[in-house]
Amino acid sequence: MHNLHNCSLTAKNRGDKSPSVVDIRTVPGPFIFSMCKGIANTAMNAKIQEQIIRLKEENNAVILAHNYQLPEVQDIADFTGDSLELAREGARVPQQLVVFCGVHFMAETCAIFSPDKTVLLPDETSGCPMADMATGESLAALKAQHPGAVVVCYVNSTAEVKAQSDVCCTSAHAVDIIRRIEPGRPIIFVPDKYLGGYVSQLTGREMIYWEGACPIHATLRPAHVEAARAAHPGAPIFVHPESPLTVSALADEVLSTGQMCTRARQSDASTIVIGTELGLLHRLRKENPDKTFVPLSDDLVCPNMKRNTLPKVLHALTTLTPVIRVEETLARQAAHAIQTMFADGVIRPRNADAQPAQ
Ligand code: SF4
Repeated sequence: MHNLHNCSLTAKNRGDKSPSVVDIRTVPGPFIFSMCKGIANTAMNAKIQEQIIRLKEENNAVILAHNYQLPEVQDIADFTGDSLELAREGARVPQQLVVFCGVHFMAETCAIFSPDKTVLLPDETSGCPMADMATGESLAALKAQHPGAVVVCYVNSTAEVKAQSDVCCTSAHAVDIIRRIEPGRPIIFVPDKYLGGYVSQLTGREMIYWEGACPIHATLRPAHVEAARAAHPGAPIFVHPESPLTVSALADEVLSTGQMCTRARQSDASTIVIGTELGLLHRLRKENPDKTFVPLSDDLVCPNMKRNTLPKVLHALTTLTPVIRVEETLARQAAHAIQTMFADGVIRPRNADAQPAQ
């Protein structure tokens, strides 16, 4: 335990320029309490992180963390990235044990990429509400109403939905995927209506949308963009394409999380406004210590993404649970949609011979 009287607060901690050391007697009590609580948490986190690293090495495991994970979880990961980058990384590395810190569909995608590996999701209940808005059964019913349509699923979807789809896409590559679809084919886009709508604007292809959206990005409003412009004149505003179209229309750039990291590195701007889940700011700040990153809204927190705490990562490595498995036939069918995304050439429905383009 830290003794309150032993806390020395440097001026840097308080954001002051001088003096270099603060007289503790002049600092308000609540501030001292929160500082010491922070130090205790940091010390506890450091201890758990040490245990995690030791167990990771003993088990010859790799830890993957999505860009939206808690900062202290990102800090112990071997790789941070978006869901597809992580699934590919999980398949590429030699380790047979993968601790996937993200939400359920991401761990599933990782298991589909690496059927011979063991994939652990520290908190099995960390689902994605948007992915869960579409089920395999309900998608099959929609397909029956639109024979001959190409079904495009956003990677943020369950294995069941991927298995029912002709091609998968990421937010970074959705435009390229839609451009590859045979002209004249109807397109069903599932489950994110905002990403689908944004891609439709860029490609001119009409789509049949699923009534789904990310409940976190859907909270963004044009007023957030207007307020950020007023508060940070000249700062570029990046938003994720899961945002409502009225917000994307006002942003300077509409980017996936990976694209935000690249553009932030390349940008000459000293301040950048970020319109996506707040977890990404940790990575951006680490990679660009000379730049300032401001959230477009403080409410962009995905509670599901924050469920994989350090103690749960430690528990997963201790018990080697919970394991995420995808049944073999389902995994093979879902893999087809992912392979089509990586392949070249025109995209048609899987059973295109029976269903000509309209
Ligand atoms: S941020 Fe949105 S899309 Fe991502 S996991 Fe959370 S609910 Fe799902």
